[in-house]
Amino acid sequence: MTDVLVGLEPSLVWKHFGALAAIPRSSKHEDAVTRYVQAFAHTHSVSIKTDRVGNLLLSVPASPGHEEAPSLCMQGHLDMVCEKNADVKHDFMKDPILLERDGDVIHAKGTTLGADNGLGVAAMLALIEDKTLVHGPLEFLMTIDEESGLTGAKNLDGTLVQSRILLNLDSEEEGALYVGCSGGRDTLAKWDLSVEDLPEKMQAFKITVKGLRGGHSGLDIDKQRGNAIKILNRFLLEAEKLGMRLGSIEGGNKRNAIPREAAAYGYIPNPKWALAQEKFHEFKTKVQQEFKSSDPGLDAEWEGEGIKKGKVFKRTLQKRLIRLLDAIPHGVIKMSHEIPGLVQTSTNFGVLNTGRKQITISTSQRSSVPSELDYANHSIASLLHLAGGEVEHSTGYPGWNPNLQSQALALVSKTHEQLFHRKPDVKAIHAGLECGIIGEKYPGIDMVSFGPTIVGAHSPDEHVQVQSVEKFWMLLREVITSYAAN
Ligand SMILES: [Zn+2]
Repeated sequence: MTDVLVGLEPSLVWKHFGALAAIPRSSKHEDAVTRYVQAFAHTHSVSIKTDRVGNLLLSVPASPGHEEAPSLCMQGHLDMVCEKNADVKHDFMKDPILLERDGDVIHAKGTTLGADNGLGVAAMLALIEDKTLVHGPLEFLMTIDEESGLTGAKNLDGTLVQSRILLNLDSEEEGALYVGCSGGRDTLAKWDLSVEDLPEKMQAFKITVKGLRGGHSGLDIDKQRGNAIKILNRFLLEAEKLGMRLGSIEGGNKRNAIPREAAAYGYIPNPKWALAQEKFHEFKTKVQQEFKSSDPGLDAEWEGEGIKKGKVFKRTLQKRLIRLLDAIPHGVIKMSHEIPGLVQTSTNFGVLNTGRKQITISTSQRSSVPSELDYANHSIASLLHLAGGEVEHSTGYPGWNPNLQSQALALVSKTHEQLFHRKPDVKAIHAGLECGIIGEKYPGIDMVSFGPTIVGAHSPDEHVQVQSVEKFWMLLREVITSYAAN
Protein backbone atom coordinates (compact mmCIF):
# COMPACT_ATOMS: atom_id res chain seq x y z
CA MET A 1 0.00 0.00 0.00
CA THR A 2 1.25 3.52 -0.69
CA ASP A 3 2.48 5.28 2.46
CA VAL A 4 -0.24 7.88 2.18
CA LEU A 5 -2.93 5.32 2.98
CA VAL A 6 -1.18 3.52 5.83
CA GLY A 7 -3.23 3.49 9.00
CA LEU A 8 -6.47 4.58 7.34
CA GLU A 9 -9.67 2.72 8.14
CA PRO A 10 -11.28 0.64 6.78
CA SER A 11 -7.88 -0.76 5.88
CA LEU A 12 -9.23 -3.40 3.47
CA VAL A 13 -10.99 -0.74 1.38
CA TRP A 14 -7.96 1.54 1.32
CA LYS A 15 -5.68 -1.36 0.43
CA HIS A 16 -7.71 -2.07 -2.70
CA PHE A 17 -8.13 1.60 -3.49
CA GLY A 18 -4.36 2.02 -3.38
CA ALA A 19 -3.92 -0.94 -5.71
CA LEU A 20 -6.55 0.38 -8.14
CA ALA A 21 -4.94 3.85 -8.16
CA ALA A 22 -1.77 2.23 -9.48
CA ILE A 23 -3.64 0.71 -12.44
CA PRO A 24 -4.35 3.00 -15.40
CA ARG A 25 -8.05 2.65 -16.14
CA SER A 26 -9.38 5.39 -18.37
CA SER A 27 -12.72 4.73 -20.01
CA LYS A 28 -12.52 2.13 -22.81
CA HIS A 29 -9.12 0.99 -21.48
CA GLU A 30 -10.18 -1.33 -18.67
CA ASP A 31 -8.03 -4.36 -19.64
CA ALA A 32 -5.48 -3.96 -16.85
CA VAL A 33 -8.05 -3.40 -14.11
CA THR A 34 -10.08 -6.32 -15.45
CA ARG A 35 -7.01 -8.55 -15.13
CA TYR A 36 -6.53 -7.32 -11.57
CA VAL A 37 -10.11 -8.23 -10.63
CA GLN A 38 -9.83 -11.59 -12.41
CA ALA A 39 -6.63 -12.42 -10.52
CA PHE A 40 -8.29 -11.37 -7.27
CA ALA A 41 -11.30 -13.61 -7.99
CA HIS A 42 -8.95 -16.49 -8.76
CA THR A 43 -6.98 -16.03 -5.52
CA HIS A 44 -10.17 -15.96 -3.48
CA SER A 45 -11.85 -18.81 -5.40
CA VAL A 46 -14.74 -16.56 -6.42
CA SER A 47 -16.66 -17.31 -9.59
CA ILE A 48 -16.33 -14.58 -12.19
CA LYS A 49 -18.23 -14.11 -15.44
CA THR A 50 -17.86 -11.56 -18.15
CA ASP A 51 -20.28 -10.49 -20.85
CA ARG A 52 -19.71 -9.56 -24.49
CA VAL A 53 -18.46 -6.03 -23.76
CA GLY A 54 -16.38 -6.83 -20.68
CA ASN A 55 -18.63 -6.14 -17.69
CA LEU A 56 -17.65 -8.42 -14.80
CA LEU A 57 -19.87 -10.33 -12.40
CA LEU A 58 -18.38 -11.95 -9.31
CA SER A 59 -20.61 -14.30 -7.29
CA VAL A 60 -20.07 -15.27 -3.68
CA PRO A 61 -22.19 -17.97 -2.02
CA ALA A 62 -23.92 -17.19 1.27
CA SER A 63 -22.29 -17.70 4.64
CA PRO A 64 -23.31 -21.13 5.98
CA GLY A 65 -26.88 -21.02 7.28
CA HIS A 66 -27.80 -17.88 5.29
CA GLU A 67 -28.46 -19.53 1.94
CA GLU A 68 -32.13 -18.53 2.03
CA ALA A 69 -31.44 -14.82 2.48
CA PRO A 70 -32.25 -12.64 -0.54
CA SER A 71 -29.40 -12.31 -3.02
CA LEU A 72 -27.86 -8.82 -3.23
CA CYS A 73 -25.95 -7.31 -6.11
CA MET A 74 -23.42 -4.54 -5.44
CA GLN A 75 -22.52 -2.47 -8.49
CA GLY A 76 -19.92 0.06 -9.57
CA HIS A 77 -17.83 0.98 -12.60
CA LEU A 78 -14.21 0.09 -13.33
CA ASP A 79 -13.22 3.13 -15.39
CA MET A 80 -12.36 6.65 -14.30
CA VAL A 81 -12.33 10.13 -15.78
CA CYS A 82 -8.79 11.21 -16.68
CA GLU A 83 -8.24 14.94 -16.23
CA LYS A 84 -5.10 16.74 -15.14
CA ASN A 85 -3.90 20.25 -14.47
CA ALA A 86 -2.02 21.81 -17.39
CA ASP A 87 1.27 21.96 -15.48
CA VAL A 88 1.24 18.27 -14.54
CA LYS A 89 3.07 15.62 -16.55
CA HIS A 90 0.97 12.48 -16.43
CA ASP A 91 0.29 9.75 -18.94
CA PHE A 92 -3.07 8.21 -18.01
CA MET A 93 -2.31 5.21 -20.22
CA LYS A 94 0.63 4.09 -18.10
CA ASP A 95 1.30 6.25 -15.03
CA PRO A 96 -0.16 5.40 -11.63
CA ILE A 97 -2.31 8.03 -9.88
CA LEU A 98 -0.13 9.63 -7.18
CA LEU A 99 -2.06 9.93 -3.94
CA GLU A 100 -1.69 12.71 -1.39
CA ARG A 101 -3.19 13.18 2.02
CA ASP A 102 -4.23 16.42 3.69
CA GLY A 103 -5.64 15.66 7.11
CA ASP A 104 -8.99 13.97 6.51
CA VAL A 105 -8.78 14.33 2.74
CA ILE A 106 -7.23 12.14 0.05
CA HIS A 107 -6.58 13.64 -3.35
CA ALA A 108 -4.27 13.06 -6.29
CA LYS A 109 -1.23 15.01 -7.41
CA GLY A 110 -2.74 17.31 -10.03
CA THR A 111 -4.97 14.66 -11.59
CA THR A 112 -8.37 13.14 -11.05
CA LEU A 113 -8.28 10.72 -8.12
CA GLY A 114 -10.55 8.00 -9.42
CA ALA A 115 -12.43 7.77 -6.12
CA ASP A 116 -15.33 7.90 -8.58
CA ASN A 117 -15.78 4.93 -8.74
CA GLY A 118 -12.54 3.34 -7.45
CA LEU A 119 -13.88 3.42 -3.91
CA GLY A 120 -17.00 1.54 -4.98
CA VAL A 121 -14.90 -1.16 -6.62
CA ALA A 122 -12.46 -1.23 -3.69
CA ALA A 123 -15.38 -1.66 -1.27
CA MET A 124 -16.66 -4.62 -3.32
CA LEU A 125 -13.27 -6.34 -3.25
CA ALA A 126 -12.99 -5.61 0.47
CA LEU A 127 -16.40 -7.20 1.11
CA ILE A 128 -15.26 -10.36 -0.65
CA GLU A 129 -12.08 -10.47 1.40
CA ASP A 130 -13.74 -9.65 4.72
CA LYS A 131 -13.91 -12.99 6.50
CA THR A 132 -15.93 -11.58 9.41
CA LEU A 133 -18.87 -10.54 7.21
CA VAL A 134 -22.04 -12.60 7.60
CA HIS A 135 -24.00 -12.47 4.38
CA GLY A 136 -26.55 -14.02 2.08
CA PRO A 137 -25.75 -14.76 -1.59
CA LEU A 138 -23.80 -11.81 -3.03
CA GLU A 139 -23.09 -10.62 -6.55
CA PHE A 140 -20.69 -7.88 -7.58
CA LEU A 141 -21.29 -6.21 -10.91
CA MET A 142 -18.41 -4.11 -12.26
CA THR A 143 -19.22 -2.26 -15.44
CA ILE A 144 -16.88 -0.78 -18.00
CA ASP A 145 -16.95 2.62 -19.68
CA GLU A 146 -19.45 4.44 -17.48
CA GLU A 147 -17.78 7.80 -17.87
CA SER A 148 -17.73 8.10 -21.64
CA GLY A 149 -21.23 7.08 -22.62
CA LEU A 150 -22.43 4.40 -20.19
CA THR A 151 -21.72 1.79 -22.85
CA GLY A 152 -21.00 -0.97 -20.31
CA ALA A 153 -24.46 -0.59 -18.80
CA LYS A 154 -26.08 -0.10 -22.21
CA ASN A 155 -24.64 -3.36 -23.50
CA LEU A 156 -24.92 -5.28 -20.25
CA ASP A 157 -26.08 -8.86 -20.71
CA GLY A 158 -29.60 -8.96 -19.28
CA THR A 159 -29.10 -12.50 -17.93
CA LEU A 160 -25.90 -11.87 -15.98
CA VAL A 161 -27.33 -10.66 -12.67
CA GLN A 162 -29.54 -13.00 -10.62
CA SER A 163 -30.27 -10.72 -7.64
CA ARG A 164 -33.48 -8.71 -7.44
CA ILE A 165 -31.89 -6.07 -5.21
CA LEU A 166 -29.06 -3.85 -6.40
CA LEU A 167 -26.92 -1.48 -4.37
CA ASN A 168 -25.16 0.97 -6.65
CA LEU A 169 -22.00 2.32 -4.98
CA ASP A 170 -21.39 5.24 -7.32
CA SER A 171 -22.95 8.24 -5.62
CA GLU A 172 -20.88 10.89 -3.96
CA GLU A 173 -22.58 12.17 -0.86
CA GLU A 174 -22.39 10.33 2.42
CA GLY A 175 -25.69 10.74 4.25
CA ALA A 176 -27.75 10.71 1.05
CA LEU A 177 -29.47 7.81 -0.66
CA TYR A 178 -30.12 8.18 -4.38
CA VAL A 179 -33.25 6.56 -5.73
CA GLY A 180 -33.75 8.05 -9.18
CA CYS A 181 -32.21 9.64 -12.24
CA SER A 182 -33.42 11.12 -15.48
CA GLY A 183 -33.59 9.45 -18.85
CA GLY A 184 -32.89 11.52 -21.91
CA ARG A 185 -33.42 11.77 -25.64
CA ASP A 186 -32.40 14.46 -28.12
CA THR A 187 -34.72 16.11 -30.59
CA LEU A 188 -33.03 17.44 -33.71
CA ALA A 189 -34.28 19.33 -36.73
CA LYS A 190 -32.95 20.70 -39.98
CA TRP A 191 -34.07 23.07 -42.69
CA ASP A 192 -32.72 23.65 -46.17
CA LEU A 193 -31.07 27.02 -46.25
CA SER A 194 -32.58 29.25 -48.93
CA VAL A 195 -30.76 32.49 -49.52
CA GLU A 196 -31.01 35.49 -51.79
CA ASP A 197 -28.91 38.52 -52.71
CA LEU A 198 -28.57 41.30 -50.22
CA PRO A 199 -30.89 44.20 -51.03
CA GLU A 200 -29.33 47.60 -51.79
CA LYS A 201 -28.48 50.20 -49.19
CA MET A 202 -27.93 47.99 -46.18
CA GLN A 203 -25.11 47.95 -43.69
CA ALA A 204 -23.64 44.81 -42.09
CA PHE A 205 -23.42 44.12 -38.36
CA LYS A 206 -22.46 41.27 -36.11
CA ILE A 207 -23.81 40.75 -32.65
CA THR A 208 -22.42 38.38 -30.08
CA VAL A 209 -23.93 37.28 -26.80
CA LYS A 210 -21.27 35.85 -24.47
CA GLY A 211 -19.96 35.58 -20.93
CA LEU A 212 -22.74 33.29 -19.76
CA ARG A 213 -22.16 30.50 -17.27
CA GLY A 214 -23.65 27.70 -19.35
CA GLY A 215 -23.41 24.38 -17.53
CA HIS A 216 -24.76 20.85 -17.65
CA SER A 217 -28.06 20.52 -19.44
CA GLY A 218 -29.50 18.45 -16.59
CA LEU A 219 -27.73 19.33 -13.35
CA ASP A 220 -27.73 23.07 -14.03
CA ILE A 221 -31.03 23.44 -15.85
CA ASP A 222 -32.83 24.77 -12.75
CA LYS A 223 -30.30 27.52 -12.07
CA GLN A 224 -32.10 30.10 -14.26
CA ARG A 225 -28.97 30.75 -16.31
CA GLY A 226 -29.27 32.49 -19.65
CA ASN A 227 -29.42 30.63 -22.95
CA ALA A 228 -27.22 32.66 -25.32
CA ILE A 229 -29.23 31.67 -28.41
CA LYS A 230 -32.57 32.66 -26.89
CA ILE A 231 -31.15 35.96 -25.61
CA LEU A 232 -29.53 36.83 -28.93
CA ASN A 233 -32.72 36.08 -30.81
CA ARG A 234 -34.64 38.60 -28.71
CA PHE A 235 -32.61 41.34 -30.32
CA LEU A 236 -33.14 39.90 -33.79
CA LEU A 237 -36.90 39.98 -33.26
CA GLU A 238 -36.59 43.69 -32.41
CA ALA A 239 -34.24 44.41 -35.28
CA GLU A 240 -36.55 42.71 -37.75
CA LYS A 241 -39.07 45.48 -37.13
CA LEU A 242 -36.44 47.88 -38.52
CA GLY A 243 -36.10 45.82 -41.69
CA MET A 244 -33.13 43.72 -40.53
CA ARG A 245 -32.09 40.90 -42.84
CA LEU A 246 -30.32 37.89 -41.43
CA GLY A 247 -27.08 36.48 -42.91
CA SER A 248 -26.27 33.75 -40.40
CA ILE A 249 -26.82 32.75 -36.82
CA GLU A 250 -25.26 30.17 -34.54
CA GLY A 251 -24.78 29.36 -30.90
CA GLY A 252 -23.91 26.61 -28.44
CA ASN A 253 -21.71 23.62 -29.21
CA LYS A 254 -23.05 20.63 -27.29
CA ARG A 255 -26.52 19.19 -27.00
CA ASN A 256 -25.98 18.51 -23.32
CA ALA A 257 -24.65 21.92 -22.38
CA ILE A 258 -26.49 25.20 -21.88
CA PRO A 259 -25.22 27.53 -24.64
CA ARG A 260 -22.80 30.19 -23.35
CA GLU A 261 -22.28 32.04 -26.59
CA ALA A 262 -24.19 32.89 -29.74
CA ALA A 263 -23.54 35.18 -32.68
CA ALA A 264 -25.45 36.49 -35.69
CA TYR A 265 -24.56 38.41 -38.83
CA GLY A 266 -27.18 40.65 -40.35
CA TYR A 267 -27.93 43.82 -42.24
CA ILE A 268 -29.79 46.99 -41.33
CA PRO A 269 -31.24 49.47 -43.88
CA ASN A 270 -28.97 52.54 -43.90
CA PRO A 271 -31.61 54.99 -42.58
CA LYS A 272 -32.27 52.73 -39.55
CA TRP A 273 -28.64 52.12 -38.64
CA ALA A 274 -28.43 54.58 -35.73
CA LEU A 275 -31.79 53.47 -34.36
CA ALA A 276 -30.72 49.81 -34.51
CA GLN A 277 -27.63 50.56 -32.44
CA GLU A 278 -29.75 52.42 -29.96
CA LYS A 279 -32.12 49.44 -29.76
CA PHE A 280 -29.15 47.16 -29.26
CA HIS A 281 -27.96 49.12 -26.22
CA GLU A 282 -31.46 49.13 -24.74
CA PHE A 283 -31.63 45.39 -25.30
CA LYS A 284 -28.26 44.81 -23.66
CA THR A 285 -29.16 46.83 -20.55
CA LYS A 286 -32.49 45.05 -20.28
CA VAL A 287 -31.12 41.51 -20.44
CA GLN A 288 -28.16 42.26 -18.19
CA GLN A 289 -30.65 43.54 -15.64
CA GLU A 290 -32.76 40.38 -15.95
CA PHE A 291 -29.80 38.07 -15.42
CA LYS A 292 -27.82 40.21 -13.02
CA SER A 293 -27.79 37.61 -10.27
CA SER A 294 -28.30 34.29 -12.08
CA ASP A 295 -25.80 35.00 -14.85
CA PRO A 296 -23.83 38.15 -13.99
CA GLY A 297 -21.19 37.75 -16.71
CA LEU A 298 -23.72 38.17 -19.53
CA ASP A 299 -22.35 40.50 -22.18
CA ALA A 300 -23.48 41.49 -25.66
CA GLU A 301 -21.34 43.09 -28.32
CA TRP A 302 -22.19 44.98 -31.48
CA GLU A 303 -19.74 45.25 -34.34
CA GLY A 304 -20.43 47.38 -37.38
CA GLU A 305 -17.05 47.96 -38.98
CA GLY A 306 -15.33 45.96 -41.67
CA ILE A 307 -17.84 43.11 -41.90
CA LYS A 308 -17.99 41.40 -45.26
CA LYS A 309 -21.33 41.38 -47.02
CA GLY A 310 -22.89 38.15 -48.22
CA LYS A 311 -26.23 36.55 -48.97
CA VAL A 312 -29.28 36.82 -46.74
CA PHE A 313 -31.87 34.25 -45.67
CA LYS A 314 -35.02 34.33 -47.80
CA ARG A 315 -37.61 36.47 -46.07
CA THR A 316 -40.05 33.64 -45.29
CA LEU A 317 -37.29 31.47 -43.84
CA GLN A 318 -35.96 34.33 -41.75
CA LYS A 319 -39.40 35.13 -40.33
CA ARG A 320 -40.07 31.52 -39.52
CA LEU A 321 -36.68 30.88 -37.93
CA ILE A 322 -36.69 33.95 -35.70
CA ARG A 323 -40.20 33.13 -34.47
CA LEU A 324 -39.26 29.52 -33.88
CA LEU A 325 -36.20 30.52 -31.83
CA ASP A 326 -38.46 32.81 -29.84
CA ALA A 327 -40.93 29.99 -29.15
CA ILE A 328 -38.62 27.03 -28.45
CA PRO A 329 -38.80 26.33 -24.72
CA HIS A 330 -35.66 26.03 -22.64
CA GLY A 331 -35.44 25.08 -18.98
CA VAL A 332 -37.46 23.23 -16.35
CA ILE A 333 -40.79 21.80 -17.50
CA LYS A 334 -41.81 20.14 -14.25
CA MET A 335 -40.51 19.76 -10.71
CA SER A 336 -41.03 16.55 -8.74
CA HIS A 337 -43.89 16.51 -6.25
CA GLU A 338 -42.30 13.70 -4.27
CA ILE A 339 -38.66 14.69 -3.96
CA PRO A 340 -38.11 18.31 -2.97
CA GLY A 341 -35.90 20.24 -5.36
CA LEU A 342 -35.72 17.50 -7.98
CA VAL A 343 -36.26 18.60 -11.56
CA GLN A 344 -38.50 15.94 -13.03
CA THR A 345 -38.67 17.03 -16.65
CA SER A 346 -36.71 19.62 -18.61
CA THR A 347 -35.52 20.63 -22.04
CA ASN A 348 -32.26 22.19 -23.17
CA PHE A 349 -32.03 24.12 -26.43
CA GLY A 350 -28.35 23.36 -26.97
CA VAL A 351 -27.12 24.11 -30.48
CA LEU A 352 -28.07 26.19 -33.49
CA ASN A 353 -25.99 26.12 -36.66
CA THR A 354 -26.19 27.75 -40.04
CA GLY A 355 -24.15 25.71 -42.48
CA ARG A 356 -23.71 26.32 -46.20
CA LYS A 357 -26.83 24.43 -47.13
CA GLN A 358 -28.68 23.76 -43.91
CA ILE A 359 -29.80 25.17 -40.63
CA THR A 360 -29.75 22.67 -37.76
CA ILE A 361 -31.15 22.77 -34.26
CA SER A 362 -30.30 20.33 -31.45
CA THR A 363 -32.31 20.11 -28.28
CA SER A 364 -32.29 17.53 -25.52
CA GLN A 365 -35.05 16.51 -23.14
CA ARG A 366 -34.72 14.74 -19.80
CA SER A 367 -37.16 13.20 -17.38
CA SER A 368 -37.19 10.60 -14.62
CA VAL A 369 -40.73 9.67 -15.75
CA PRO A 370 -40.67 7.82 -19.11
CA SER A 371 -44.09 9.06 -20.28
CA GLU A 372 -43.08 12.65 -19.52
CA LEU A 373 -39.88 12.21 -21.50
CA ASP A 374 -41.99 11.06 -24.46
CA TYR A 375 -44.30 14.02 -24.02
CA ALA A 376 -41.44 16.52 -23.83
CA ASN A 377 -39.86 14.92 -26.92
CA HIS A 378 -42.95 15.06 -29.06
CA SER A 379 -44.08 18.51 -28.01
CA ILE A 380 -40.70 19.97 -29.02
CA ALA A 381 -40.86 17.88 -32.20
CA SER A 382 -44.33 19.27 -32.95
CA LEU A 383 -43.06 22.82 -32.67
CA LEU A 384 -40.11 22.09 -34.96
CA HIS A 385 -42.51 20.45 -37.43
CA LEU A 386 -44.83 23.45 -37.39
CA ALA A 387 -41.81 25.56 -38.33
CA GLY A 388 -41.20 23.30 -41.34
CA GLY A 389 -38.25 21.39 -39.93
CA GLU A 390 -37.31 17.83 -40.72
CA VAL A 391 -37.28 16.28 -37.25
CA GLU A 392 -35.59 13.24 -35.73
CA HIS A 393 -34.83 11.87 -32.26
CA SER A 394 -31.68 10.21 -30.96
CA THR A 395 -32.02 6.75 -29.40
CA GLY A 396 -31.69 8.05 -25.83
CA TYR A 397 -31.40 6.23 -22.52
CA PRO A 398 -33.92 5.29 -19.86
CA GLY A 399 -34.43 7.02 -16.54
CA TRP A 400 -34.90 5.61 -13.06
CA ASN A 401 -38.22 6.71 -11.72
CA PRO A 402 -37.97 7.20 -7.93
CA ASN A 403 -39.94 4.60 -5.97
CA LEU A 404 -40.33 5.89 -2.45
CA GLN A 405 -42.08 2.64 -1.49
CA SER A 406 -38.95 0.64 -2.33
CA GLN A 407 -38.16 -2.01 0.30
CA ALA A 408 -34.43 -1.65 -0.32
CA LEU A 409 -34.72 2.08 0.32
CA ALA A 410 -36.59 1.41 3.57
CA LEU A 411 -33.96 -1.07 4.75
CA VAL A 412 -30.92 1.07 3.85
CA SER A 413 -32.60 4.11 5.33
CA LYS A 414 -33.44 2.35 8.60
CA THR A 415 -29.92 0.93 8.84
CA HIS A 416 -28.42 4.39 8.29
CA GLU A 417 -30.58 5.83 11.03
CA GLN A 418 -29.66 3.06 13.46
CA LEU A 419 -25.95 3.49 12.81
CA PHE A 420 -25.67 7.26 12.68
CA HIS A 421 -28.82 8.48 14.45
CA ARG A 422 -29.77 10.55 11.46
CA LYS A 423 -32.30 9.95 8.69
CA PRO A 424 -30.49 9.97 5.34
CA ASP A 425 -31.61 12.43 2.68
CA VAL A 426 -33.48 10.69 -0.10
CA LYS A 427 -32.50 12.19 -3.44
CA ALA A 428 -32.59 11.75 -7.16
CA ILE A 429 -30.60 13.51 -9.85
CA HIS A 430 -31.60 15.09 -13.11
CA ALA A 431 -28.88 13.34 -15.10
CA GLY A 432 -28.21 9.85 -16.40
CA LEU A 433 -26.91 7.09 -14.12
CA GLU A 434 -26.15 3.46 -14.81
CA CYS A 435 -29.10 2.48 -12.59
CA GLY A 436 -31.56 3.85 -15.17
CA ILE A 437 -30.14 1.55 -17.83
CA ILE A 438 -29.63 -1.45 -15.54
CA GLY A 439 -33.22 -1.07 -14.28
CA GLU A 440 -34.49 -1.37 -17.83
CA LYS A 441 -32.50 -4.60 -18.37
CA TYR A 442 -33.88 -6.10 -15.15
CA PRO A 443 -37.46 -4.84 -14.83
CA GLY A 444 -38.66 -4.57 -11.25
CA ILE A 445 -35.18 -4.79 -9.69
CA ASP A 446 -35.10 -2.81 -6.45
CA MET A 447 -32.20 -0.32 -6.44
CA VAL A 448 -30.60 2.21 -4.10
CA SER A 449 -27.39 4.14 -4.63
CA PHE A 450 -25.02 5.45 -1.97
CA GLY A 451 -21.36 6.21 -1.48
CA PRO A 452 -18.75 8.23 0.42
CA THR A 453 -18.40 12.00 0.03
CA ILE A 454 -16.42 12.75 -3.12
CA VAL A 455 -15.96 16.38 -4.06
CA GLY A 456 -14.91 17.69 -7.47
CA ALA A 457 -15.26 14.38 -9.30
CA HIS A 458 -14.20 14.49 -12.97
CA SER A 459 -11.69 17.29 -12.24
CA PRO A 460 -8.14 17.38 -10.81
CA ASP A 461 -9.73 18.78 -7.64
CA GLU A 462 -11.38 15.44 -6.96
CA HIS A 463 -10.99 14.51 -3.30
CA VAL A 464 -12.59 12.21 -0.80
CA GLN A 465 -13.19 12.52 2.93
CA VAL A 466 -11.63 9.62 4.80
CA GLN A 467 -14.27 9.67 7.50
CA SER A 468 -17.07 9.40 4.96
CA VAL A 469 -15.44 6.27 3.55
CA GLU A 470 -15.61 4.71 6.98
CA LYS A 471 -19.31 5.55 7.31
CA PHE A 472 -20.00 4.31 3.80
CA TRP A 473 -18.28 1.02 4.66
CA MET A 474 -20.17 0.65 7.95
CA LEU A 475 -23.49 1.25 6.20
CA LEU A 476 -22.71 -1.16 3.38
CA ARG A 477 -21.63 -3.93 5.75
CA GLU A 478 -24.58 -3.42 8.04
CA VAL A 479 -27.08 -3.49 5.14
CA ILE A 480 -25.61 -6.79 3.93
CA THR A 481 -25.75 -8.22 7.45
CA SER A 482 -29.38 -7.12 7.84
CA TYR A 483 -30.37 -8.85 4.61
CA ALA A 484 -28.55 -11.99 5.77
CA ALA A 485 -30.77 -12.08 8.83
CA ASN A 486 -33.94 -11.82 6.68
ZN1 LIG B 1 -18.98 7.38 -11.33
